[in-house]
Amino acid sequence: MRLRVVTVGIAGVGKTTVVEKLLSMTKGAKLVTFGSVMLEEGKRRRLVKHRDELRKLPVERQKELQRLTAARISRMKEAIVLVDTHLFIRTEEGFWPGLPFEVVRALKPTHLVLVEASPDEISQRRAQDKLRYRDSADRGSLLEELSLARVFLAVASNLTGAPMLTLTNSDGKADATARKIATMMRKASS
Ligand code: AMP
Ligand code: MG
Repeated sequence: MRLRVVTVGIAGVGKTTVVEKLLSMTKGAKLVTFGSVMLEEGKRRRLVKHRDELRKLPVERQKELQRLTAARISRMKEAIVLVDTHLFIRTEEGFWPGLPFEVVRALKPTHLVLVEASPDEISQRRAQDKLRYRDSADRGSLLEELSLARVFLAVASNLTGAPMLTLTNSDGKADATARKIATMMRKASS
């Protein structure tokens, strides 16, 4: 069975770390970071220079880049495709879906995995990430984002019929979190 595991989570949960560990545990898998493909398309059009500028673009522009990215990912034919992406983006026009119907239909996920962490861990990780221009957020906004993520996850699961798995990625536990996803993938393909 071909697997297309779409991993999502709000900024600072450690999603990219988990997914990279998962890649090293999984033979024959391809990892695609949705934001990196969007960034390539955005740079090609001279709209942005850094990935954290994408969410500041007018939503209509972001939609074009999002559509192009989903189309590129939908053409990937590897037996296992791991996608690192977002359920929603905090734009200047409001929260905007990362997996609206057209996009999730193109991605055809077999599994949806939500990575979560505690608000304290998230704000610490955001503050420490010097390579990024992360939005800082108070505890209340982080709780709002975490619960909004579950809502968007349930919608994506319902649209696709893909099961949703939620995992807590506590400090120092990225390996264990990745192993849980790897175990789920072994079950799925047995
Ligand atoms: P990341 O490197 O995963 O934090 O992604 C960088 C940026 O790419 C995000 O902040 C968003 O602006 C954009 N992005 C990632 N995934 C999506 C998506 N599914 N839809 C729209 N924008 C996305
Ligand atoms: Mg990331």
